[in-house]
Formats: sequence, structure tokens, C-alpha cells
Amino acid sequence: MFVGHFAVAFAAKRAAPTVSLGTWFIACELVDLIWPLFLLLGIETVRIAPGLMAFTPLDFEHYPWTHSLLMCAVWALAVGALYWRRNRIAAAALGIVVLSHWFLDAIVHRPDLPLAPGSDMKIGFGLWNSVPATLALELALFAIGVGLYARGSQPADRIGRYGLWAIVVFLLLAYAGAAFGPPPPSVAAIAWAGLLGGAITATLAYWVDAHRKMRA
Ligand SMILES: [Zn+2]
Repeated sequence: MFVGHFAVAFAAKRAAPTVSLGTWFIACELVDLIWPLFLLLGIETVRIAPGLMAFTPLDFEHYPWTHSLLMCAVWALAVGALYWRRNRIAAAALGIVVLSHWFLDAIVHRPDLPLAPGSDMKIGFGLWNSVPATLALELALFAIGVGLYARGSQPADRIGRYGLWAIVVFLLLAYAGAAFGPPPPSVAAIAWAGLLGGAITATLAYWVDAHRKMRA
């Protein structure tokens, strides 16, 4: 899942408007931002296997530290703890957004998401076997999320107005590249693209969100 995660981030901004959209972006993708680091360090592994599933050429061999249900809950608690003293509603919502990543991934992945490190019990409902079904679900979620954010806020200036659409276009282009582009050349390329893409989207979101006001 890719743009579906960002749908949750856009929508969650409404729950705790004082938290920047950039922070919501990091929360929704947190485990996918740690994953490239763990790939580069050799702690987790992925294999490039074109044809394995219709939507993705990636075989997620081993990623219990970022993508097991238990560890997603641990990452969620860690993020919640960071925010707890500042704002409890925001802390709880951020934790839920971090944890939502696992459940959204479970819809699309084949059964490769472990319940806990060391567990043989793996979950995944395999929507990625169908490109049209994947696109329909993720684009619908994304449209709802962006709509909630766009209607719940108003641009303070031109950066706030056009920047939002720049983020939307950037995410959709990255999504189209992943869906219809060639398989990545190497695992290192996956990792660096993930880190760079995450940094760009979060930076854009902090910048644009600072130029929009939430409606009362
Ligand atoms: Zn993921």
C-alpha cells in the first residue's frame, strides 16, 4: 500500500489540527521509513522477484522489526509516548496512524506480514494480485483523505493553495512509477528511493501545511 497510507495522514490532521501534516506523513509511513535503513544494515531483507504479484515485484522475505503487528504496535507506542506530555489526543491519534500502516498493508500484501518477530503466523489478504482492485481501493482512500484535508483547511497564500496540489501530484506520480514502472534495479536502489521519497514528501508537507489554516 502506498497512497492509501497518506490518505490516513490527511484525514488524521482533522483529529489533531495542531500537529503538522508533515508529522502525520512521517507517522503513516514510519515503518516504511525505518525499513530502508534496516535493508541497508542487513537487518531485514527483500528480494526483487518480478511476476510474484501483479502489483509489485517485491518479495518481502524478512521484515519482522518494521512490519510485524507487535513491532508496529511498539513503534506506535513510542511515537505516542513522544507526544504524550504535549497533547494526549494528538499522541493517541499519532499512535493509531502508525499502527494503521500494518492493517492497510495486510489488505494488499500476500501473507508475509508476521504477527511478531519469530512468529510463523503471517497475514496478508493479497489485493496486490489485482492491479485494478488495488488502484480502485487506494485511489478511493486517497481521494477521501485529500478531500477531508482540503475541506478542513484553507490556504493562507499561494504556497498553501498550489503546494497541496504539488504534494498530491508528487505522490500520484511516485505511485504510478511503482505500479507501472520497471522493477527496481537493486535493493539498495529501493532503500535510497524510499528514504529520499519520504524526506521529500515530509518536507513538502511541513512547508505547505504551514501555509494553510485549519477551519474552525
Ligand atoms: Zn509498509
